[in-house]
Amino acid sequence: MNGGGMDADIRQFACLDDNFGVILHLPATERTIAIDVPDAAPYLAVLAETGWRLTDILITHHHWDHVQGLEALKAETGARATGPEMSRDRIVGLDAGVSDGERLEIGGLLLEAIGTPGHTLDQISWFAPQIGFAHTGDTLFSLGCGRVFEGDMAMMWSSLDKLADRLPGDTRIYCGHEYTLSNARFALTIDPQNTALVARAEEVEALRSAGRPALPTTMSQELATNPFLRARDPAIRAGLGMETASDAEVFAEIRRRKDSF
Ligand code: ZN
Ligand code: FE
Repeated sequence: MNGGGMDADIRQFACLDDNFGVILHLPATERTIAIDVPDAAPYLAVLAETGWRLTDILITHHHWDHVQGLEALKAETGARATGPEMSRDRIVGLDAGVSDGERLEIGGLLLEAIGTPGHTLDQISWFAPQIGFAHTGDTLFSLGCGRVFEGDMAMMWSSLDKLADRLPGDTRIYCGHEYTLSNARFALTIDPQNTALVARAEEVEALRSAGRPALPTTMSQELATNPFLRARDPAIRAGLGMETASDAEVFAEIRRRKDSF
């Protein structure tokens, strides 16, 4: 996980009810990057504890539970915020906008903005290939995916498929929410014979009952266990009676079932 000589210290912590806060620190260049700001206070607590000086903030999408603490965190730290260009007018405090395929460099760390619309139209997943890190916002969760609010089912499926295609298997995936336990229980209804999923669900039950997070995950683990990435799987299709449907239709059926689970 140290390609290109980069090294990063990554902190993940709880925010609000079930959001994650994430901070990345680059010791070589003394840059510190926050991803989303559900609430400023837990970010400030991590900065106080570590002594890191926040320099940059990256935003995944415009929802309040991802940007609510942005202005307060900027006011305390003077950090520069970059997020979806599409939401420049609605995210207060954004200094710069990026669109799908654009790259940023922060203290030697390359960050790619991968447009992954569906949950919202502006959604960006942030990928740092040098350190095998991605933050998928409310697009890809462990064993789940975000609800489809602004886009449509085909758009969300193509965003998930794009992540599966672009992120190497060993990429450590962070995301916006700790929904893994309910995602695991739902996933077992869709893919009950999947032994990798059964094992992961047991692990998640144990982690969560010990008060520990089930994230980060990896892309290879999600490809093996997350039903929302597995619309091509013959056993899942057979279970749904959708052997001849398109991948997007199978995904849409799984998403609809989860919406009412
Ligand atoms: Zn959201
Ligand atoms: Fe959210």
